[in-house]
Amino acid sequence: MDLDTKIDEFNKVGKTISARLKKLSIETVRDLLLYFPFRYDDFSQVVTISSLKPGMVATICGRVDLIANRRSPRQKKMLTEAMICNDTDSIKAIWFNQPWITKNLSSGDKVYISGKVQGDLFENYFNSPSYEKLSADNIHTARLVPIYSLTDGLTQKQIRYLVKSALPIVNEVEDFLPAEIITEQKLLALDRAISQIHFPASGQALSAARKRLAYDEIFLLQVWSQLVKNNFKDKKAYHIKFHKHKTRDFIHNLNFKLTVDQKKATWEILQDLAGDEPMNRLVEGDVGSGKTVVATIAVYNTALNNAQSVLMAPTEILAFQHYQTMNKLLGKEIKIGLLTRSQRCVSDYEGKLSKKKFLNRCRKRDIDLIIGTHTLIQPEVEFKKLALIIIDEQHRFGVEQRQVLKQKDSSFATLSSSPYQGTVPEGRRGLPRTPHFLSLTATPIPRSLALAFYGDLDLSIIRQMPHGRKSIITKVVLPAKRQLAYEFILKQINSGRQVFVVCPLIDPSDKLGVRSVTEEFKKLDQQIFPNLEIGLLHGRLKSEQKEKVIADFTDNKIKILVSTSVIEVGIDMPNATVMMIEGSERFGLAQLHQFRGRVGRGEHQSYCFLFSDSGDLASNQRLQSLVDCSDGFALAQKDLELRGAGQVYGQDQSGFYNFKMADLSDLDFIAEIKKTAIKFVAENDLSDFPLLKEKLSALGLLDHLE
Ligand code: ADP
Ligand code: MG
Repeated sequence: MDLDTKIDEFNKVGKTISARLKKLSIETVRDLLLYFPFRYDDFSQVVTISSLKPGMVATICGRVDLIANRRSPRQKKMLTEAMICNDTDSIKAIWFNQPWITKNLSSGDKVYISGKVQGDLFENYFNSPSYEKLSADNIHTARLVPIYSLTDGLTQKQIRYLVKSALPIVNEVEDFLPAEIITEQKLLALDRAISQIHFPASGQALSAARKRLAYDEIFLLQVWSQLVKNNFKDKKAYHIKFHKHKTRDFIHNLNFKLTVDQKKATWEILQDLAGDEPMNRLVEGDVGSGKTVVATIAVYNTALNNAQSVLMAPTEILAFQHYQTMNKLLGKEIKIGLLTRSQRCVSDYEGKLSKKKFLNRCRKRDIDLIIGTHTLIQPEVEFKKLALIIIDEQHRFGVEQRQVLKQKDSSFATLSSSPYQGTVPEGRRGLPRTPHFLSLTATPIPRSLALAFYGDLDLSIIRQMPHGRKSIITKVVLPAKRQLAYEFILKQINSGRQVFVVCPLIDPSDKLGVRSVTEEFKKLDQQIFPNLEIGLLHGRLKSEQKEKVIADFTDNKIKILVSTSVIEVGIDMPNATVMMIEGSERFGLAQLHQFRGRVGRGEHQSYCFLFSDSGDLASNQRLQSLVDCSDGFALAQKDLELRGAGQVYGQDQSGFYNFKMADLSDLDFIAEIKKTAIKFVAENDLSDFPLLKEKLSALGLLDHLE
C-alpha cells in the first residue's frame, strides 16, 4: 500500500463503500489522509461510574455485564440494553435499532462508553452512546474523537477506522514546507500534523496541528502572490493614452452624474492604463453602485488608442445585457461584439455573424470590444492588440473558472482567470505585451483582508450609491401573510411595475418544502395571477429561450419573472420594483443582498420580500439583519461573524482558494506569514524547492507563470 493506492483497493473497502467515499472526493489513500474532521467530540475525560450525573457528557471505562436485544413494547423499536460495571458501580446503556451491537459486544468485554448521561426517577443511563472495546489505541471513545462530514451510507466509525488504518504510511506524505521555516516558526512536521488533526493526543496537539495546516494554506498563497507580482513587474503593457475631451463628452452625455467614488475609480483606472506596467486592479462596489459605466470608460479609451478590450461575464444573460448597455453607451463610437455559446453579433452588422466571420474580425481587430462568457477562452478565439481584459462579477467565476481551467486550452485561460494570473504565453497569441487586467466584484471583501492577501493587487472601492436611490423596503414575510404580499404585488403591477420571484431550486425536490421555480411558476401562472404574463428563467433553458424571456421582461411584456439564482448577478431592470425570495433561509446574506440589488435601480420605491417557510429562529434572525441593513459591506461583515470566513470567502470565491484550516479573520497570522513568504521568495529560487514547486503546481497556481 502507498499513498496513491486506489481507495477501492485499500483495506477491504470494496465497491459500495468506495463509491460513497468518492462522493467525498476520496479516491486514494492520500485523499483519505487529507480528509480532515470538521469538529471533535471531547470524550477525553474518563471518569468513574459513581461520579456520573444527568446531563454530563463523559466517558467511562467498565466491563459489559449483560447485553441483550429486546423489542420496546410501545414504540416497536429494537432496543439493545447493556449493563456496564466496575468493581463497585454499574450503569445502563441503551441503543435503538442497532441490534448488531450484541454481535460486537459480549459479556465480559472491557469497554469505553462515551456520551451524554440521562437520568429518570430511578436511574442514570447512557442513551445511544459511542462504545469501543478497550485497546491501546482507542479512536471512537476516551479521547478527542474526530467527526467528519459524511455522505449517505457512511458512518463516523467507518471513516475513523479507515483513516486509522492509513495512518501508518502518513510519513510518506512529503513535507513541502522549507525546513528552515518549519524550524523558525516552530511548526509541526506535516505528517505529524496530519495524524494529530485526525486523532489529537490533546487539545494542545490539536491546536498545533491546525496551526501547521493553516500555515500551509496561507503560505502557498502568499508565495504564489509574490511570484505573480515579480512576474508582472517585468511585463510591458500597452500605453493607453487618456483621451480627455472625448471622455469628458462621454461623461457629459450620460443621463446621470457620476458619483465621486465612480469618478475616483475611473481616474485610478485611467492612470493605470497610461502606465508602463500592466494594470492589476479590482473594483469593489456594492450591487447597483454603477461599476459598468466605469468599465465602459476604460473600454472607450482603449478603443480610442486603437487597441482591443474583452469583457467576460459569468452568465450568458449578463453578457447579453452588457452588450445592450454598452451598445447604448458606445455603439456609435466603437464596434462591439457579443460572443457566447449561441450568439455572435456585432454592433455594426444586422443579424448574426457566422463563427468564422466573427473570429476573423476579432483576429483583425475589426471589433473594439468583445463581450462574452467563458466561450472567450476557446483556443480559436484570437485577438489583436488586446490591451484590456475585464472580468465582471469575478466572485462568480471561481467555481466555473476552475472547471474552465481544467477543460480549456490554458493559453487563454490565462487571460480570463483571476487578475493575479494575467499573463499570456508570448508568441502563441502573437501578443508582445501583457494586457491590463480589471476585475469587478460586488463581494465586499474588507480592504484589510484583501490587502493582507494581495499586496500586488490595486483596489478601487465604490462605496457611494448613485444619488437619489431610494432604500429598498425589506420585509420578512411569514406564511400567514403570503396572500397580502400577493395583493401588494398585483397593485404594483397594475401601476406599471414588474416583479422578480426567486426560488432556490429548478425542479420540485423530494426534500420537504423547498420551493422550485417550475412549481412556483405553475402556481403563479395558473392559480394566483392567471391574467398576468409570467416568465420562467433558469440555467437549464436554451440560450434563445433565456434571451426571449429577458427581452420580454425588458419590454415589460412579462410582468413577473420567476427565476433561480441565475438572476443574482448583474441583471439591470430599472422598472422592476419587487423582489420576492422564496425559501430565503437557504441563501447566504451576501447572496440575498445581491438578489435585493436587482430592484431599486430606477426612480420607483422598491421592495424586497423574504419568504421563509422555516420557523427556525436563528434563520429568521439572520434574515432580520437584511431588513435592518442595506450596506453590502456591513452585511458581509455580519456574514463573516455568523458563518465564518471559510464559508464566506472560502470555496466559492475565486482568488480565495479553498481554505479548510485558515481563519481569515486572523490578520496578524496572515501578515506574519506574508512577511515570511516575501523574504523566502526574495532570497530563494523556487527550483531549489521541488516539493514546494510541485505543491504549487498541483494547486494550479503555477500554470500561468513563466
Ligand atoms: P453594478 O455596480 O451592480 O454593476 P450597474 O453598473 O449595473 O451596477 O449600474 C446600476 C444602474 O445604475 C444602471 O442602470 C446604471 O445605468 C445606473 N447608474 C450607474 N451610475 C449611476 C449614477 N452615477 N447615477 C445614477 N444612475 C447610475
Ligand atoms: Mg454589474
